[in-house]
Amino acid sequence: MSGVTFNRNRAKLKKLLGIRARLALLAVLLVAPLMLERVRSLEDTRAKQVAAASEEFANITQHSADTQREVISSVETMLKSAAYIRASGGIARSCEILRASLPSNLPWIRSIMIASKDGLVQCSTLNMQVGLNLGDREYFRKAQETRDFVFSDYLFGKTNGRPMMMAAYPVAAINPEEDAVVVAGINIDWLSKIMNNLGGRPGISSLLVDSAGVVIAAPSDQASMIGRPLDNVPLLSAIAEKALSSDAPSGSLSFTAIDGSKRVISFARIAGTQSRLIVSIDEAKVTAAINRDIRTAYLQLGFVCLFVLLGALIGAEKLIINPIEVMTGMAKRFGEGDSSARVARHKLPSEFMPLARAFNAMAAQLSQRERELVATNDRLTVIASIDMLSGLANRRGFQSRLDFEWMKAQQYNSELSLLMIDVDHFKLYNDTYGHPEGDACLTRLGETLAGIAADTMGFAGRYGGEEFCLLLPNTDSLKALAVGETVRTAILDLAMPHATSSHQTVTVSIGVAATLPNGAQRPGDLIEAADAALYAAKHRGRNTVVEHGFTRLIDEAGMALAG
Ligand code: GH3
Ligand code: MG
Ligand code: MG
Repeated sequence: MSGVTFNRNRAKLKKLLGIRARLALLAVLLVAPLMLERVRSLEDTRAKQVAAASEEFANITQHSADTQREVISSVETMLKSAAYIRASGGIARSCEILRASLPSNLPWIRSIMIASKDGLVQCSTLNMQVGLNLGDREYFRKAQETRDFVFSDYLFGKTNGRPMMMAAYPVAAINPEEDAVVVAGINIDWLSKIMNNLGGRPGISSLLVDSAGVVIAAPSDQASMIGRPLDNVPLLSAIAEKALSSDAPSGSLSFTAIDGSKRVISFARIAGTQSRLIVSIDEAKVTAAINRDIRTAYLQLGFVCLFVLLGALIGAEKLIINPIEVMTGMAKRFGEGDSSARVARHKLPSEFMPLARAFNAMAAQLSQRERELVATNDRLTVIASIDMLSGLANRRGFQSRLDFEWMKAQQYNSELSLLMIDVDHFKLYNDTYGHPEGDACLTRLGETLAGIAADTMGFAGRYGGEEFCLLLPNTDSLKALAVGETVRTAILDLAMPHATSSHQTVTVSIGVAATLPNGAQRPGDLIEAADAALYAAKHRGRNTVVEHGFTRLIDEAGMALAG
């Protein structure tokens, strides 16, 4: 069983390793280095593009942080100049100057206020803010304590409850005698607007987060995040944790998020504040476009390979397989006996010419040989059935003619007769005249018989030794007896001397048998009957013709007498 499987597998392997497969393999081997080089360059491009994307995002992060920083420093500058104004004059005069001097090109500054030591707003660029008390705000107290610029976390406005941020600068930083604090309300919408260049990119989230982890600003597509603590969003909280836990003012780190996405975070602290700008990149999404391009390139590469393979196969079919099939077809036709099969050379590529020429030459030679062989065979068949001494058919030739005539007689329902002719006392003849003379005698007898056979439409043969036979188709026993008589007298008339015979000349005894062949008889029966008649003729003193039917009658009479 396993042997059968093994053989089948071997046959399969052989089939696989046919010329087509070998050529395809060759094509692959030729194309493989080019493909490998292309794959290498594609992978290189992918790595470079990913690196370029990361760098671009780091730059964008830095740029946005710088812009935010400019915003903050513009606020700081405004607050400092307001503090100078307050330090150099009374509250009423300061208020007037303040209202007149808030430039319209700083739209992120919503208002500027001057508050007393306990936080009571004494003057503001927005009237409704006058009278508010900021004394309970952390940033306010911190500014008083540190005597420095303070930027608040995310908080809600006292007048309208809108989310905002505040910045405070104590006048005491300029003149320690003064205890007022200058405060600015920051319009955080503007911070988001600045971040818009970071929005709209798949796989990238960018947020401005305060020290408590609350989102202060985000590009418009992530605006819903504003005001929400990052702790509530599992993925972002991890990002924030990573970014906030770092002491460095800016940097980047990569990690795998809970959702399994590989992320790179770039973060930058906004100077003068506790805020951080965080840009998180989902590498898979950013590289998706790059991967798509690379995939297309791979697909193109695959198609090129496919075309090369198809080309190789079609080429092989046309250039190699077809000519081989033409030659095989011719060889097959030739093998099946069509000796005229020749390869049409004009249909073949030049490399196949010598093979085709050799095949055609071989085919021509083989058919010539076959013709010669057939002729020789025919000659041999004739030679094999002729007796050289008498020139008549030999026993073999006679036998096959008997079979043929038997069949014909059966077919036409005609009678068939046979004469068995034996030379009398031939042994004595040989003894008297010598064997060569005996041969010469047999030759003359053969000639005589041939003549009679021609006259009687019979077929003469030398049955063996000095025994001849004459087959007479379409002849009944009477006619056969007559022919027998003709033979006997013709030989007698030759008058060949035979001193040791009682007749003094060469004589023959003849047994005659005739039959109407039927299915129950065999040709051998006719020979036996003629032989029996011959035997009777010898008994009756030789130089006699005896018919078999007559023999039978005599036998029966003899048996009756004996009985
Ligand atoms: P019978 O009258 O009873 O036929 O006597 P016979 O001598 O003819 O018969 P027998 O069978 O005793 O002898 C036949 C002889 O024929 C013996 C053999 O030497 C001779 N003979 C057979 N074939 C040839 C041959 O080809 N050439 C010669 N010269 N003699 C042959
Ligand atoms: Mg004999
Ligand atoms: Mg004899």
